[in-house]
Amino acid sequence: MRYFILSDIHSNIEALEACVQRAKQAGYDSVLCCGDIVGYGPNPVEAIDGIRQLNAVTIRGNHDRVAAGLDEPTQFNPHARRAVYWTRAALPEPYLDYLTKLPLGPLDITAEAQLVHGALTHEDDYIFTEADADENFQLTDKPLTFFGHSHFPVVFCSEEKGNSLQPISYEFDEFIAVKCESGKKLLINPGSVGQPRDGDPRASFAIWDADRARIEFYRVEYDLTLTQEKMRAANLPGYLIDRLAHGR
Ligand code: ZN
Repeated sequence: MRYFILSDIHSNIEALEACVQRAKQAGYDSVLCCGDIVGYGPNPVEAIDGIRQLNAVTIRGNHDRVAAGLDEPTQFNPHARRAVYWTRAALPEPYLDYLTKLPLGPLDITAEAQLVHGALTHEDDYIFTEADADENFQLTDKPLTFFGHSHFPVVFCSEEKGNSLQPISYEFDEFIAVKCESGKKLLINPGSVGQPRDGDPRASFAIWDADRARIEFYRVEYDLTLTQEKMRAANLPGYLIDRLAHGR
């Protein structure tokens, strides 16, 4: 069984389509999404349609929650807040309803794996450091936890002595694979489809090959100038438009 793992699409349909195309070449059986389908980008309707067409098992992200109106973006910076209000206005009622009904993580996928948006501690928490990872390892017996929110592709592996951080190298064209070892727990971020922040502007995703017990990380180029043009036309904040080109 091969699971195509997506996170943080952020209304970027060009990036989503590029990832789907690459994942089809690589082969997959089912799709999992760690949330933040919308927010920031210019195509929230198309992003939701895309995720639904994939039959993705998906949880909600913080942007999905506030775009749905379940919460107000009081913790958001002014750019993100403006994008939230733009997204709300752009989404027809059935789409807002879809976001409202997305389950809150953690969500069990198999006996081995679960999905969360930010962290097991809270959907809005970030896992950036080994200390963050350690706190989350204490909260689960699952070997695999897929998370998003930070927009950094990364794997944290539980070790007997503390936790070793295994940052994923970005110097690859095809993929890098990380082995799942029995007795160890992994926290895995597939990276962001629609707004990478690790300095590489290419869209990011992962495939979990359950039979081979490994996680494959992929990066794909997409037409980000088209996404930027649409954002300009929608009068979305310049800061959000510029950052796509820098992957920051
Ligand atoms: Zn996000």
